[in-house]
Amino acid sequence: MSSDQSGPSYGFDTLQIHAGARPDPATGARQVPIYQTTAYVFRDADHAAALFNLQEVGYIYSRLTNPTVAALGERIAALEGGVGAVCCSSGHAAQIMALFPLMAPGKNIVASTRLYGGTVTQFSQTIKRFGWSAKFVDFDDLDAVRDAIDDDTQAVFGEAIANPGGYIMDVRAVADVADAAGIPLIIDNTSATPYLCRPIEHGATLVVHSTTKFLTGNGTVTGGCVVDSGNFDWTASDRFPSLSAPEPAYHGLKFAETFGPLAFTFHSIAIGLRDLGMTLNPQAAHYTLMGIETLSLRMDRHVANAEKIAKWLEADDRVDYVTYAGLESSPYFDRVKTVCPRGAGALFTFAVKGGYDACIKLIENLEIFSHVANLGDTRSLIIHSASTTHRQLDEDQQRAAGADPEVVRVSIGIEDADDLIADLDQALAKATA
Ligand SMILES: *Cc1c(COP(=O)(O)O)cnc(C)c1O
Repeated sequence: MSSDQSGPSYGFDTLQIHAGARPDPATGARQVPIYQTTAYVFRDADHAAALFNLQEVGYIYSRLTNPTVAALGERIAALEGGVGAVCCSSGHAAQIMALFPLMAPGKNIVASTRLYGGTVTQFSQTIKRFGWSAKFVDFDDLDAVRDAIDDDTQAVFGEAIANPGGYIMDVRAVADVADAAGIPLIIDNTSATPYLCRPIEHGATLVVHSTTKFLTGNGTVTGGCVVDSGNFDWTASDRFPSLSAPEPAYHGLKFAETFGPLAFTFHSIAIGLRDLGMTLNPQAAHYTLMGIETLSLRMDRHVANAEKIAKWLEADDRVDYVTYAGLESSPYFDRVKTVCPRGAGALFTFAVKGGYDACIKLIENLEIFSHVANLGDTRSLIIHSASTTHRQLDEDQQRAAGADPEVVRVSIGIEDADDLIADLDQALAKATA
């Protein structure tokens, strides 16, 4: 579970291939095997008891832990600079898993208005059924963030690079506000990936991912991950009893006292995965491990293509505006240097002259771009967010999230940029004829 088998001094390109992966002890297999098993034979009754008491770390049952899934967690933790990670069945599962040890009925989180549409729905509707709630504020207004935090606020939640508008969050500034209030900052780092942004270095406590996107990279499997920085002192107040107080389900064990910086990770596995069951399967973990091996190479190309295409679109008369933060015209251009110095990612929106109807015609006439509800694929993707991924939001929420009705969202792939530009050129001609 901890990340440092490969040593903290290795560079990103080395870690993305080697972290969490060692030759299989049984066979010497060099690639991480897909441990397609639900259960693991105990050495004897004492071994079984020690595992169930959390006195010894090992494998019991794949709802909790599996060696292939564990390798993936170690790898993502290493890339994010965290101490541990827990993988789950989707990005949305990861968000619930991140909140679960922190929350209780009556508690709330303060969340950015600029979030993935599904997250806005999960936070504004679904979590109410657990007795949790979310207050949405503009994270560029630090006073508003400060004012929204009350005695029942358990976390602050934002996206480093926010889908769909290409908004870049000042992670450090918001982390300082959360710190002053004694609560953790959770960053959804899906759009940036640890190659472009490492939120823990900017003060985040937890990092969540939809590994479905750039980390896997090929649009093959859904998955999620929660990485713990290990930096938060859960015992500094009595605000987080799940981590600091005796746990009745484990004979009064105190996670923070027993596991130190790994308390959150152990709680997520021993309680979260055990009882919520949002487990990642080993096949999916295998695909994601394969994807991560080339993450840095893909992200460099994603960014180079996005920059070239955003510039081309911005200069085109048929386009009203482009929101890519890598453009000098973006209000977030200066934040790129500090938050994500290797580039502003591959997601942005642009407004087609002719509004909604022109957006739809553009999408229908593209040949290389696929019209899908996904992002972070090697393939270039396009969608009209307001009528799809952000459909459950009202128009004010859509605009606040950057999903205005007159824009399309693109996820730029790693094909030839010139081919993508030619495709956009012909489809824009038809859309605005
Ligand atoms: C896709 C996505 C999610 C949800 O992840 P799933 O794997 O689809 O559950 C959460 N946050 C962001 C930024 C996303 O892009």
